[in-house]
Amino acid sequence: MSEQDRKRLEVINTQSSKRGLRGKVNAKCCECIYDPMAAGSGSWRKQVEACTSYDCPLYTVRPVSEKGDKPLDKGKIIDS
Ligand code: SF4
Repeated sequence: MSEQDRKRLEVINTQSSKRGLRGKVNAKCCECIYDPMAAGSGSWRKQVEACTSYDCPLYTVRPVSEKGDKPLDKGKIIDS
């Protein structure tokens, strides 16, 4: 297992072991998009926050920082 995979799996396991759905959603988003070796892309949360897969069923409930952008309104994206 590469160092990249090990770090990624560590975050996924930490999140998925949390109680409730929040940790499971976080873990799924990490599994989907997080690359611990992506230079300049920031933490797992920053990378998930930057997700642009508006059609993903988890998009509106993906983890975002409190200071970060709110999940985008799909209607506004489609209309603009
Ligand atoms: S919201 Fe984005 S990061 Fe999360 S599972 Fe969907 S596509 Fe992946």
